[in-house]
Amino acid sequence: MAIEYSARVARIPVYPAAAGYALPEDVALLASNESPDPPLPQVVAAVTRVLGGLNRYPDPTNSSLRRALSDRFGIPANRIAVGNGSCDILLATGEALLEPGAELVYGWPSFSVYPQLEAASGATGVRVALNSRHEHDLGAMAAEVTAATRLVIVCNPNNPTSTAVPLADIRAFLEKVPRHVAVLLDEAYREYNLLEDPDDTVDLLKRHANLVLLRTFSKIYGLCGLRVGYALCGDERFVTAVNQVRQPFFCNAAAQAAAIEALKHQDAVAERVERAIFARVELEAGLDDLGIEPAASQANFCWFDLPEDAVEQDVVAGLAERGVLVRAGGALGREGALRVTFGTPHENDRFLAALRATLGL
Ligand SMILES: *Cc1c(COP(=O)(O)O)cnc(C)c1O
Repeated sequence: MAIEYSARVARIPVYPAAAGYALPEDVALLASNESPDPPLPQVVAAVTRVLGGLNRYPDPTNSSLRRALSDRFGIPANRIAVGNGSCDILLATGEALLEPGAELVYGWPSFSVYPQLEAASGATGVRVALNSRHEHDLGAMAAEVTAATRLVIVCNPNNPTSTAVPLADIRAFLEKVPRHVAVLLDEAYREYNLLEDPDDTVDLLKRHANLVLLRTFSKIYGLCGLRVGYALCGDERFVTAVNQVRQPFFCNAAAQAAAIEALKHQDAVAERVERAIFARVELEAGLDDLGIEPAASQANFCWFDLPEDAVEQDVVAGLAERGVLVRAGGALGREGALRVTFGTPHENDRFLAALRATLGL
């Protein structure tokens, strides 16, 4: 007899993990929107310093990291949540706000973790289609807010489509959403967005206590292997709630030390952004040569529809045979599309050559 699992487990989708971790040889990992740059030596040194003290539990209140984030953003430390990656805070948000009968509104295609919130909680998920430019349709999303809505998630810039909506539209959207509905802006790619200053949304917290800005050290800081993210919140009760539903030690000592050190090197962040923008321009030009027009990227990856006669799975397999791993759109909500992370200049050239060969151009 097999053991029995809860109905909840049957509802929760399995995260579409990237392939490639078991591949022996040199492959271009362009499937997970990671940074091609290794962590800074100062960050590695900070992690190394804490390793001798691993017989102690980490600081459960993350006080030094929250103080560093508070200094950087001018938000009181009691309105900052920390997590084992920002996905930890995201899932805790679902636990804290959702239950059967409640509604969750988000755009689609968007981050593949969002459907897990409704599945885990038994709440009803309302997916709002992106517009023809692969951008969030905030008007349509506001129209879906009902008396049952507890949470609206806006991924900006959006994964997997790379597009961003401007700050003015976010501001207008927040004016429309009732104050008892939490609005979570997932800003994992915020630093790559050239539409405005990355810190502009922080000001919105002053006016909107129902706003949560979700951010991460996984992307621009290149620390996804350690798992650390944070949320800047309009209301300290949100922080208390997401802490209540989690285990006490949700952020390990090495991750806390790395994040604190990484925050001190904003010059390195700026350089990384510059390299990503350079890659964006190069890839857009290379795709244009192949007659492909990607969505307007404000992230560290691009998203495009394949030529009509191309079969998505064949293209992904053809790229993999040539040592380039990317994400198929089908697994992300749109069949016939690809999501490609910007890599090093060499990796980007390799991708373009592999795509040309795979498409027979
Ligand atoms: C990568 C990503 C994250 C970051 O997840 P972590 O748990 O912080 O690694 C969050 N949201 C979106 C949309 C992402 O693409």
